[in-house]
Amino acid sequence: MNYLSHIETELLAGKKVLVRLDLNVPSLDDTDRITKSLPTINFLKDAGAKVIIISHIGRDPKESLAEVAKFMDIPLVKEFDPAILESHQVIMLENLRQNPGEESNDESFAKTLASYADIYVNDAFAVSHRAHASVVSIPKFLPSYAGLQLEQEIKHLSQAFHPESPSILVLGGAKFETKLPVIEKFLPIVDHILIGGALVNNFYKEMGYEVGSSLIDESANITNVVGNPKIIIPHMVLVENERGREEKSIDAVELGDKIVDVLASGLEQYANEFKAARFILWNGPMGNYENGFTEGSKKIVDLIMTSDSTSIVGGGDSVALIEELNLQDKFTFLSTGGGAMLEYLANGTLPGIEALNTIEE
Ligand code: ADP
Ligand code: MG
Repeated sequence: MNYLSHIETELLAGKKVLVRLDLNVPSLDDTDRITKSLPTINFLKDAGAKVIIISHIGRDPKESLAEVAKFMDIPLVKEFDPAILESHQVIMLENLRQNPGEESNDESFAKTLASYADIYVNDAFAVSHRAHASVVSIPKFLPSYAGLQLEQEIKHLSQAFHPESPSILVLGGAKFETKLPVIEKFLPIVDHILIGGALVNNFYKEMGYEVGSSLIDESANITNVVGNPKIIIPHMVLVENERGREEKSIDAVELGDKIVDVLASGLEQYANEFKAARFILWNGPMGNYENGFTEGSKKIVDLIMTSDSTSIVGGGDSVALIEELNLQDKFTFLSTGGGAMLEYLANGTLPGIEALNTIEE
């Protein structure tokens, strides 16, 4: 892997650098992704490079990066124009997805983008699981580097493949199809896997418990992993039903109940495991946090804080929850990747990482 941080900075002076960032911020009230892109931009500026920023934004390809560019005080250009780059050190191109070639991974679109620059930098970990033109095809045409944030992601997340022991993986949330491969991959690697969120409902059901109207992923096949002694299943849950909210042991859940959170009282018995842990990786809220069910997740934070472990959290909702509770500084590292993080963990790499020139260091 070629890391930008390892480059001789003299080599960058006067060079044009095409930088793929993830500036897909939900709104300008949440500019975390912008903030995390600044070290790479500043590194390149300080080295005297010319910077051409590329990114996508939003789901609708018609959306514009105009507000983001304005917020960052960087000129946004609809069409690349070398003259504009002459008079500015940093420019931004319009939403990549306005060109259908981005998502269809059109090689001629990638080639056109590559023709604007001498060097390519990928600092967009959160989209590096996508085989899009700006992620996997530009590196075919330019010397390519991993940016500073991407480097941090790789350095921190790759620790999970050989974690300091004892190690715990905490998995919650809802998207089972993205999490099951992670469970399967990490069962042989970590000491414990604690399951919460809607994921645990599938386990309850498979174990023969009533789950009422709880959220279940009907398509998930977990027969291979249920019953594995490394898997920790919390047994106290919060349910909603026609009477309101009730705390219940899992064996007391009835047809009219909907499980919305795991209870702190059912997690406390794992305090020793957490206290002893040297490495903890967490993805996925323990409960339906958008509706205020944050008890289980808060308890996980408390348990993590009792340990001396390296602690890593990732996932779109998980990080949103941590930020909502203002607990960012309790963790060693917060990943910018949601789907990308899970795919990286499941496969050990991503298409966008593979696409960078993989000359061994
Ligand atoms: P992440 O984005 O962190 O990877 P997911 O997208 O997999 O996490 O899951 C987050 C979603 O899971 C949230 O919308 C949350 O409300 C939901 N969730 C967690 N536990 C429950 C539950 N018991 N019932 C319903 N939804 C839940
Ligand atoms: Mg999510």
